[in-house]
Amino acid sequence: MASLRSRGHHTRTSAALFLGTAAVSVAALVWMGVRLLVQDRALESEQLRNRREAAADRLVASLEQVLSEEGKMLSGPGRASFSLLGQDAVVVAMDSSGFRSWPDKALLYYPVIPPGREAPALLYAEAEKSEFVDRDFDRAVKGLFPFSRAGDPAVRIGAQFRLARNFRKAGDLVAALQTYDEVVKSSGEGVSISGAPADLAARRARCVLLQELGRTAELKQEARRLADALKGSRWRLDRASYIYYRDQAALWHGNEPGPSTAGQEALAEAVTWLWENRLINRDPERDTAGRRTHRLLGVSVTILWHQSKGQLAALVAGPGYQRSRWFDPLIDRLDLKGVRVAIRDTDQALVYGNESAAGNAMTSRLTGVTGLPWDLVLVNADLDADRNQFAQRRRLMMTGLAMLALLVIAASYLIGRAVSRELAAARLQSDFVSAVSHEFRTPLTSMLQFTEMLIEDESLPSEKRRAFYGAQERATRRLTRLVESLLDFGRMEAGAKPYRLERLDAGRLVKATVDEFIRDAGSEGLVMECAVPAEGPLVKADGEALAQALWNLLDNAVKYSGDKAVVHVEVDPGNQVAIRVRDQGIGIPLPEKDQIFRKFVRGSSAKERGIKGTGIGLAMVKHIVDAHGGRIRVESVTGKGSTFTILLPSEE
Ligand code: ADP
Repeated sequence: MASLRSRGHHTRTSAALFLGTAAVSVAALVWMGVRLLVQDRALESEQLRNRREAAADRLVASLEQVLSEEGKMLSGPGRASFSLLGQDAVVVAMDSSGFRSWPDKALLYYPVIPPGREAPALLYAEAEKSEFVDRDFDRAVKGLFPFSRAGDPAVRIGAQFRLARNFRKAGDLVAALQTYDEVVKSSGEGVSISGAPADLAARRARCVLLQELGRTAELKQEARRLADALKGSRWRLDRASYIYYRDQAALWHGNEPGPSTAGQEALAEAVTWLWENRLINRDPERDTAGRRTHRLLGVSVTILWHQSKGQLAALVAGPGYQRSRWFDPLIDRLDLKGVRVAIRDTDQALVYGNESAAGNAMTSRLTGVTGLPWDLVLVNADLDADRNQFAQRRRLMMTGLAMLALLVIAASYLIGRAVSRELAAARLQSDFVSAVSHEFRTPLTSMLQFTEMLIEDESLPSEKRRAFYGAQERATRRLTRLVESLLDFGRMEAGAKPYRLERLDAGRLVKATVDEFIRDAGSEGLVMECAVPAEGPLVKADGEALAQALWNLLDNAVKYSGDKAVVHVEVDPGNQVAIRVRDQGIGIPLPEKDQIFRKFVRGSSAKERGIKGTGIGLAMVKHIVDAHGGRIRVESVTGKGSTFTILLPSEE
């Protein structure tokens, strides 16, 4: 028979088992989670880095390809196809014999300029004598006039300039202005005056005259036209002339802000640099090629050159060309996902892309390593979004692990509970077997004793002999009842006990059972009070089973009351017929009140006091009462007594 205390012990063992298993598994999961987190974080920066590295490699390879294709075109006849380069790039070819550029007039100034055509001064010697020696300007004008109508532009223009000079000296500034204007309008291509293109010199002279005449508005207009023509690369000028005329024009037109020429000037400057450095390659037999960026006047210019057999060809590209021909199409084509590119020239100025946020991890490819003329810097375009994605993955992973942990806890709990139940059941059963054996031993021992005495002593007086037989009969009955109740219980458990319900008088049944119980128990020390009506109430019941249930309650009341048992039995009619058995025994502790109706369960005080029992009595009572559609209740105060009540539906 298992006591409630031993059940408690099992529960504690299984709880410890469950807690242990769960704790170990959860600890393993937590450890795994932490390691996963650490690894995933490392993986995150590794993946972000890999993305940048891969993009950087592709970018370097593609830029290299673009530049070498452009370089190839430079060396062949293909360079003429650069003629559509627009404003921001120029292709130049130079050797000891000269200099060419495509487009033809792309530069503001040139490192070398072809000499202009000028009429020999000797032609005008007569007129100049009149002008300088005799200071007779009218005669000089007359002498020059025929030349100013000559067919040869060089002769004509030379005369016109001298004419204008004489008009001016004669004080006829308007006529001088007019004459210079004729020079500007006439087609004097290739004709120069004192080394400067004729119409440029004429324009400048017009400005000087307009200034002298105080015609400021016209002067400004003229100066603006001059500045625009300079910007439009109308003349082939050297650097010094260009700067001289540019500054003069700016002075006259009052430095009105016009479109910046920094880009064009940077190109011209780069070409000058090339010209000055073209002889660095001393070995004319060797082909060389190169590329570099220059920051000139705040503008990034990239130069690709190729030198072969003393001839140098170069592409000089400004930022607009670099962006529209190289960077934009290339980065579009490469479609570098999740990565932002910044390209810097050798002065570390940004040529393409944006400043990258400080502190963010970046990958760079430096010019010294790649051979490209720029430094490339790559950062992750949307670091927050990337990190978010990783964090989301980690959250998912952690949720999975948390769910796994919950599953492990639930599984260990269920397994722990099942194991504890199994253990408790096994324990209950083994306790039950030993309790039953005990129950058998007592009557068997007394039967054996009395039988021996009867056999040994033939001369026993007849009263003693009857008393011995009486005792033998009681022991036999007790054994029979025990066996029968065990068999009954077995049948009930298996659901094989049929109940034959019929209307019967509950009062009469209780009275008969109590009487039989008193007869069976003997009268020593037992006070049995019975408050039962003579007739009714009626209930629907299996008489034998109900009597068995009542018997069990009476048996317990006596068993758990000690030597002097006072038992009160009553039947209360009503909607629910109540059959009550009250004793003044040891009582039942509150926590055990529900447990004692379970099979094989014995109360702690019953065990402590060594009161014999099998733990099936109340389980049988509950089974029988349930089969009758009734209920069993117990009220008890420890040390004061207990009242068990069977409630059955009335049949009245
Ligand atoms: P058993 O009496 O064989 O132990 P039962 O199923 O009849 O088994 O009773 C279960 C337990 O209920 C008992 O071990 C005892 O602790 C308690 N019990 C039953 N009836 C009484 C009672 N009248 N007074 C005190 N305790 C009782």
